[in-house]
Parts: sequence; C-alpha cells; structure tokens
Amino acid sequence: MIENLTPPATPDVLKQARVDFPILSRTVNGKPLIYLDNAASTQKPQSVIDAVSRYYSHENANIHRGVHLLSTEATAAYESARQKLARYLNASDESEIIFTRGATESINLVAHSFLEPIINAGEEILISHMEHHANIVPWQLLAKRTGARLRVAPIDDHGNLELDTCLSMIGPKTKLVGIVHVSNSIGTVNPIESIVTAARERGIATLIDCAQSIQHMPLDVQSMGCDFVVFSGHKMFAPTGIGGLYGRKSLLGKMRPYQGGGDMISRVSFDGTTFKEPPSRFEAGTPHIAGAIGLGFALDYIESIGRETIHNYESQLIEYAVGRLKNCQGVEIIGNPEHRSGAISFTMENAHPHDIGTILDTEGVAIRTGHHCCEPLMTRFGISATARASIAFYNNSDDIDVLVDSLTKVRTLFG
Ligand code: PMP
Repeated sequence: MIENLTPPATPDVLKQARVDFPILSRTVNGKPLIYLDNAASTQKPQSVIDAVSRYYSHENANIHRGVHLLSTEATAAYESARQKLARYLNASDESEIIFTRGATESINLVAHSFLEPIINAGEEILISHMEHHANIVPWQLLAKRTGARLRVAPIDDHGNLELDTCLSMIGPKTKLVGIVHVSNSIGTVNPIESIVTAARERGIATLIDCAQSIQHMPLDVQSMGCDFVVFSGHKMFAPTGIGGLYGRKSLLGKMRPYQGGGDMISRVSFDGTTFKEPPSRFEAGTPHIAGAIGLGFALDYIESIGRETIHNYESQLIEYAVGRLKNCQGVEIIGNPEHRSGAISFTMENAHPHDIGTILDTEGVAIRTGHHCCEPLMTRFGISATARASIAFYNNSDDIDVLVDSLTKVRTLFG
C-alpha cells in the first residue's frame, strides 16, 4: 500500500467528532488519552450513551409480549434498530437481521443452525490463515462433531490472501467459505467479491466476517452477494453484548433454531413445539434491548458523518501512520498488504510487545499487544505477539505523531 508522510486534513464534518465522545477528553497517567485500540473496541458517542440511559430511565420494559405502553415503546425502539441495520447493510428485508451478542455468537449460530444439519463427513469448510479465533474454533468444533474437514487458504509474506490458491480450494466438497473481510491483526482487506462470486457459481454458501470492516467502509450485502455477514456492536461505537447476523432470507427460513426458549415459538405443547419465522426464531429469551437501541443510535451517528467520508479520511490516516511507523527506527511493521484498513501490527527490535504497550500507556497511548486472537497468523509470521495500533474516525495525525514519539522513548529505554 502507499505510504504518505503528509498529515491528512480532518474533514469539517469530523471536527466535532472528538467532542462527541466524552471519554476522549479524559487523561491517562496524567497525559491526554490517545486511544488507538479501536480494533478491540471503539468508544461511544454521547448520543449512544444517552439513548441507553433514556431507555432505562423512560422506556424500560420487556419487549414483544406486553400490552402496556412501556412495553410497546421498548418494542418499537428495539425493532426500529433492526430496521436501521437492515437499511445500513442494504438487506432486502429486515427479517434478514438477527440480533446476537456479537460476531462470535453469529458465527456459532451459523455453524449450528445452518451448516451442521447439511454437512457430511469428508465435506469441507474453507477459511483463511488470517482468521480471528472466532472464525476458526466454531468450525473446528463442528468438524469434530461431523467428521467434516477444515481447510485453510494460505497468505503470502506480505499478509495478502493467496487468491488463486484460495479459489482453487473451492471445490465439489466445499460446503461453506468463511472469510474475514478485514484482518483485525494486520489490516489486510480481502478481495471478498472474487471469493463470493466463485463460491456462488458453485452453489456454495459464504460467510463474511465484517467485524473489522462494518465501521470503516460502506457495506452492501446485496452487492456483496454473500449469504451471511457477522459483526459486533462494540466495534462500531455501540454497547458491548450486542451485535448481529445478516442472513439471506431463503436460507434463514430453512434453518433450525440456535437456542430454545421464549419469544421464538409459535406454539408449545408437551407433544412438540413449532417455531416462529426468522428473525424471532433465532432470538430466544429476552435480548439485550438497551444494546440494540444503542446500536441503532451508533448507526445514526455513523450516517451523520457519512460512510464514504469515514472511509476516505481513514484511508489517508492509515497511509500516514504506515509512513511514520516505517520511518521510525527500530520498528518493524508486520504485513504489508496491498489494501489495508484500520490496523497496523508491529514489533520492535529489543522490546517485547507487552513492554511497548506498558510504556506507551505511561504516555497516555492505548494500543493492544499480544496475538490478537490470531495465533495461526502469528505462527505464520514466526512471532508470538505484536503491538497493534488501530484507528477510528475520531483519530487524527496528532495521535499518530504522539504514538511515534512514544515509540522513540521505548527505543531509548530498550536500546
Ligand atoms: N472477528 C474479527 C475479525 C474480530 O476482530 C473480532 C473481535 N476482535 C471477532 C471476530 C469477534 O468479535 P466479538 O468478540 O465481539 O464477538
């Protein structure tokens, strides 16, 4: 990717953004907070915090089952969040949006309700070498239960997916291709269009892990053409414990429930139970109502800036960060993908990533260190951990400059 040492100008529409996120004005260890751990979790704007607080102070009641006003209002707010998500992703119908706890639960839901009933011993699930554990372990567990085989498409030394090999691995035995859109560790943006097209031509289901793309770029599930998309609210300025699954209507309608309980049934008797249509079939029990409402407000916030604006600005900011880190003595960037979004992983000659993270914290700079739930990817690069800086639209070139200055201090300390 291009590196650029010219700091990007903050678009007018983003000038207020930092003020809208109250936590960004606090100090850490006596220094202004520089939050560069957005791939792990993003901060929340005041509008989301207020929406959650308003729900608990004015509308709190259980949804779908009540006839009283509070329940009706809570139901309307919860369902309006589903409509907002359907519009945000350009789903053809709001019943294609299932609320879950997040990307992890969404993948487990697809493994249990979609794939397990139709996969046989010897058939294959194809993932890539750069997946988050959330898109590895559920398939491994499923493979163990069914005798299916988990296959892994390789990546090159720059951290790009080896596309031709990946496409050649999609064959008559493949039942599902599950690929991450943007790597949480090294920031690679994968060519999901080519993969989805190749799988669809053979009638194979596709799942795209959009946990690290949904907050950074426009997404349109109809033009992506995939069958499932998974994501987490807390990485897109919404509360923790809420996220979602987009599923193609024709598939969801045939899928078995994920969990059993209240709100997902049509009729229950001791002779048997019938289930509601999606999305209710997959939302057993009382959901995270406040979280869903907060997620709806997070989408409003993102839309008020504009996803194209966010994407363009962040692309320039990440190029600037790559340029500055490449020129920072002692720093080695892990992965140099053709297209990058959100995250940069790096190591330093004499300092362990945990030491880097600890020293940066004393400067008020929050980054993540470790394997980022991508142990196979770390192994591929012959390392056990990296330091990772990850951005959101409220970051700017000053944040990157403080990061680089602080890394210079790390180098001085560790020689
Ligand atoms: N996939 C990717 C690419 C991720 O970055 C993450 C979170 N780091 C997940 C899946 C899992 O998300 P969650 O823990 O919110 O379910």
